[in-house]
Amino acid sequence: MTEQDTVPQAARGSPDEVVVVKLGGSDGVDLDACCADLAALWAAGRRLIVVHGGSGETNRISAALGHPPRFVTSLSGVESRYTDRDTRDIFAMVVAGKVNTAIVERLQAHGANALGLSGLDGRLLRGPRKDTIKVVENGKRLVLRGDYTGKVEQVNTGLLTLLLGAGYLPVVAPLAASYEGEAINVDGDRAAARLAAALGAARLIILSNVPGLLARYPDEGSLLRHVARADLPAAMDLAQGRMKKKVMGAQEALEGGVGMVVLGDARLTGPVSAALGGAGTTFTA
Ligand code: ADP
Repeated sequence: MTEQDTVPQAARGSPDEVVVVKLGGSDGVDLDACCADLAALWAAGRRLIVVHGGSGETNRISAALGHPPRFVTSLSGVESRYTDRDTRDIFAMVVAGKVNTAIVERLQAHGANALGLSGLDGRLLRGPRKDTIKVVENGKRLVLRGDYTGKVEQVNTGLLTLLLGAGYLPVVAPLAASYEGEAINVDGDRAAARLAAALGAARLIILSNVPGLLARYPDEGSLLRHVARADLPAAMDLAQGRMKKKVMGAQEALEGGVGMVVLGDARLTGPVSAALGGAGTTFTA
């Protein structure tokens, strides 16, 4: 891993390559500026798919509704939201409703014909529901049941190809259909990675409110410029909290054949263009 390095293949690539962009970092991020940049790339002929999160907004709204979020840490140290049925409904309301609509609205305002859907629609994203999770809380091991989370195993690439071919810019909220047909909460970073791999996307860009992967978090001067595949385990050790999901997503995307993954800074002006130009942490196979 390198903090000072030349970034490989920083060229922008050909316009008909598909680029998947995970929009995150709601705190401190100018959504309108992100969407202006996406719309400009789209107008220039770049084929884009946006996947987003909505964790921060879900926390705020679930607290306001009297159902505050409960975060749990798995035995392997990965943090996630415990999603009982009510939480799942609030999550769906926020991500597929408020957040998705806000992104589609901003993209439309900047001239891109965005089409919002969640991973449930048309079985865009499918996978197993994990209704029992093993967690550690206050040093004790617990088994929690009734969880509505899961992971993405299948992607309806035909639907995305249809939408891209018809000139739409798909904007995907992080819900998936379980194999039993239930709506489940999936992690946006890892869903974006599976989607990018299934589509054979050239790049996956994961935007957040940090410059990229920091070797000494929160020191923004310690940005890692490049992580090779062999360094992924070390990168995973440096990532704390939810940053781990982004590094896992990067790994899954590379293993699935995506040529390059960039963890980029959503706070920059033109953050997607900057990431395509090599800003942030670049992961290559
Ligand atoms: P988003 O909501 O944009 O998807 P998250 O909040 O889930 O992003 O994850 C990004 C956060 O991960 C950063 O804001 C930062 O607080 C945290 N983080 C933990 N470890 C690191 C690290 N090594 N480098 C950068 N950020 C880190």
